[in-house]
Amino acid sequence: MVLILAAGMAGIFLWKRSHTAGSPPTSENKGGSKDTKKKDAQSGTSDYTIELQGDSEVTVRLGDPYEDAGAVVKDRQGNRTDISVSLEEYDLNTAGEHQLVYKATDPKGKEISAQRTVTVTPNKEYGAKGLPICMYHYVYDANSVPENLNSNYIEVGTLEEELKYLHENDYYFPTWKEVREYLDGERILPDKSIVLSFDDGPLYIELAIPLFEKYQTPATSFVITSYYNDKSMLDPYRNNQYLTLESHTDNMHRGGGTYGHGGIFPALSKEEALADLKKSIEYCGNGDALAYPFGDYTAECEQTVEEAGFLCAVTTEPGKCYPGDDPYALTRVRMLGSQSLDQFISEIN
Ligand SMILES: [Zn+2]
Repeated sequence: MVLILAAGMAGIFLWKRSHTAGSPPTSENKGGSKDTKKKDAQSGTSDYTIELQGDSEVTVRLGDPYEDAGAVVKDRQGNRTDISVSLEEYDLNTAGEHQLVYKATDPKGKEISAQRTVTVTPNKEYGAKGLPICMYHYVYDANSVPENLNSNYIEVGTLEEELKYLHENDYYFPTWKEVREYLDGERILPDKSIVLSFDDGPLYIELAIPLFEKYQTPATSFVITSYYNDKSMLDPYRNNQYLTLESHTDNMHRGGGTYGHGGIFPALSKEEALADLKKSIEYCGNGDALAYPFGDYTAECEQTVEEAGFLCAVTTEPGKCYPGDDPYALTRVRMLGSQSLDQFISEIN
């Protein structure tokens, strides 16, 4: 019986294929003495080996199909047997070296194994679906309508419908580090991936926080840290398992500039801006992502943000993100308080 490991499509899902072939060969080597057998058992050697079909080192681009060439078990004389080989689950959705592990059990019950190295190289051109980074602001309760109600406010019931939808449809919520890898062509994200971000700080989304827990939907709160006299004031939010605090700057969420909407960030010196960003990182306990106040940024702002150690920065410009996009000028999908669930679904797809 010829054993063939079926081809797998890499790049999208975990892949597992295990084979059980017919009975193992009966022609066992009986020449060895008891002592020899004991020695063999101790040293873990087997008269059988797994031989890889195809190259033992393979290189594929991220997102390109990978067909595994399979493996067979051979005896000491080099004869192919029909002993089944299983290939352990593997995942080629990230760039780097991956070891594919093949295992089989010889007729004496010893486990034998072999490995193939698959190197996945970065690739930005595999036709990504696009990642929505949602931009929300404030959450309110219909029983207590804010006086200055505008489209930046979403009613808590509307938000709950959206979170419930994401939960029930098994959406994936990448970390900012994973977002950066996705942009760099080093990671494939599931098609149903989404980032939820809420600008201006956790005080404005108190009503949403229990919902993040209820529907297990991680979210980022972009915090203006100068609104808090002491960083311990942020502890209850920082310690929430579904909420990540990231910088909306310390004290640059104010006017005074002449660029864009007039935010101060582009008008400050690099030293002033860096000091501001560093303080905000300390308060947030994170420094992976930044939201530019009012969406105002210049090439110099981008450099400052990178120098402060951030992996990503988001703007208020509309659109989904794709591999190859500038990680320090990411577009977002604006969430409006008046949107229906159908509109939400269409916006994120
Ligand atoms: Zn803001």
